[in-house]
Amino acid sequence: MKNIDWGNLSFGYSKTNYNVRCYWRDGQWGELEVSSSETINIHMAATCLHYGQAAFEGMKVFKGKDGKVRVFRWEENAKRLQNSSNGILMAPVPAEIFKKAIDKVVELNKNFIPPFESGASLYLRPLLIGTGAQVGVKPANEYLFVIFVTPVGPYFKEGFKPVSIQIARDADRAAPLGTGNIKVGGNYAASLKSGQRGHDEGFSSVLYLDAKEKKYIDECGPANFFAIKGNNYITPKSPSILPSITNKSLMTIAEDMGMTVERRAVAVEELSGFDECGACGTAAVISPIKNIVDRDTKKEYKFCADGNAGPICTKLYDRLRDIQYGNEPDKFGWVTILK
Ligand SMILES: *Cc1c(COP(=O)(O)O)cnc(C)c1O
Repeated sequence: MKNIDWGNLSFGYSKTNYNVRCYWRDGQWGELEVSSSETINIHMAATCLHYGQAAFEGMKVFKGKDGKVRVFRWEENAKRLQNSSNGILMAPVPAEIFKKAIDKVVELNKNFIPPFESGASLYLRPLLIGTGAQVGVKPANEYLFVIFVTPVGPYFKEGFKPVSIQIARDADRAAPLGTGNIKVGGNYAASLKSGQRGHDEGFSSVLYLDAKEKKYIDECGPANFFAIKGNNYITPKSPSILPSITNKSLMTIAEDMGMTVERRAVAVEELSGFDECGACGTAAVISPIKNIVDRDTKKEYKFCADGNAGPICTKLYDRLRDIQYGNEPDKFGWVTILK
C-alpha cells in the first residue's frame, strides 16, 4: 500500500482488505469464507456476549530480506486455541482449517505485509466465539472462527527500551484453578481495571502475583515474566499463567546459548537478586524491565542501571527476531514460509 507509513506504525488496528471466516454449525465446520466487512452479524443471545465463550490468538507474519514471507510457530497457536476451546467448551478449530485460514488471509492481504527494512510485521488475530443463542448457561451450538490481520510496528515506539512495571496486590488476573492458562477474553476483562490504573499511575503493565498466597510471581497482564540471574533463565511455573509461545521459544534459545532454564515458583522477594527482568509475548517479543514497584509495600526493585536493556535480554531478543525474519537459519524448525 503506497500510503502506509511503515516505519511509524503503532501496535493498533488499521483496516486491511479482507478477513476470513469459518462457521461451525450442525456439528461441523463449513467452508472457509472471505469477507471484506469489518463487522460480524450475530444473534443478541450469542454465548460470547453473555457467558464469555470467546478465545483468541495473536501471531505475526514477517517479510524477510529475501522477500519471503514467514509465519512463526503457527502450530503452537493452533494447539493453544484448541486448548482454549476445550477449556470453555467451544468447538475446536482443526489445525488444517487454522493453517488454511492463515494462508488465505495472508495471501489476500499481501500488500499489507510491511517491508523488511521497516522492522514492522503483519499481526494476525484469530478469534473464536460462541455465536449460537442461549439464555440458560450452556455452551453454544454454533461457533464462528475469524482471522483478521493488521500491520503493526514494533510494540514500543521508543524501541527496545526498558519499561516500568507495577505489582498490584489488590487485583487478580486469574484464579489458581480458573481460566488463566487459556487465552480467553474473560481473563482480559478481569485485568482491565487494574491494568488501566497501572497505566494511569505511570506503569506500562501490571505484574500479577499468585492469587492464593500472593507470594509468587504469576505474569504481566498480557505477557509472561522472566528473569536472568547469572547464567540462569528463570520463569515462573503456575497453573494460572498463560503458556506464552515467545517464552517457550526464549527458553529454547537460552538453553542453546548454554544457559540453564529454571521453570519454577518464583517468590516476589527474589526480584532483588535478579540481574535482568523482562516481559515477553508476541507483540513486543521482550520488554526489558527497568523497575518494578510494589504498589502496596512501596518496595522498588531496580534493574538496567544504565537505562538500557541488559546484555542477555538483548541477545535473546536479537536471536528470536533474527529467526523470525529469516536472518538466521531456522535451526529449531519454527518458521513456515508462506506462498
Ligand atoms: C497471549 C498472552 C501472552 C503471550 O503469549 P505469546 O504466545 O508469547 O504471544 C502472555 N500472557 C497472556 C495472559 C496472554 O494472553
